[in-house]
Amino acid sequence: MNIQIKPGVQLLFIDDRSLTVFSVVSEAFRLYDEVCILTSAADGEHGKDSYHKDGLAWDFRATYNRLYSRIYKAIRTTLKNLDSCYDIVFETQKGNEHIHVEYDERRAQKQRLDQTGLDINNPNLKEEYDMANQTTTKWILSIAAVLLGNLIRLITKKFRDELTEWVTKKYVEALETDNPFDDLFFEFLAKMLDIPLPS
Ligand SMILES: [Zn+2]
Repeated sequence: MNIQIKPGVQLLFIDDRSLTVFSVVSEAFRLYDEVCILTSAADGEHGKDSYHKDGLAWDFRATYNRLYSRIYKAIRTTLKNLDSCYDIVFETQKGNEHIHVEYDERRAQKQRLDQTGLDINNPNLKEEYDMANQTTTKWILSIAAVLLGNLIRLITKKFRDELTEWVTKKYVEALETDNPFDDLFFEFLAKMLDIPLPS
């Protein structure tokens, strides 16, 4: 890897996404025999919707301008093939030419949720999920509740009390997070273990 870093550039963290970007960018610049300079990451002034402040956007500058567009295309094609959540923009404003690369974390989250078939922004999500849960997993619950509910009554009281206390505590904590799946998970666990939850 061969990327120069402009003094003052702040990297919040390095993870697989930034390492992928650095190696692809470095390789593209090397291919066209250009020197690559990282001019900005989490530092500096950027558009409010950009991922710079989140540590997921990087600006790269070439020393010579000849082959900028080719380098840009090489980076764009490679990164997009690896993960469609990478966005690559060629900023051509004179005196400020650079290649902006970012990882669209919101899009990535949305894609992960789409794979589950659930829309976390849907205000009726919990209700819909509960309804689906009631119909499609009713039989699983009934069998599991009978098995586990009976089983839990057979274990030593100490463990039963500890388990009940833990699940109840986690359920209350889950209600406080924004993630509705936390609530659902511990509700489901409580149902399976026949633990009454505070309403
Ligand atoms: Zn940028």
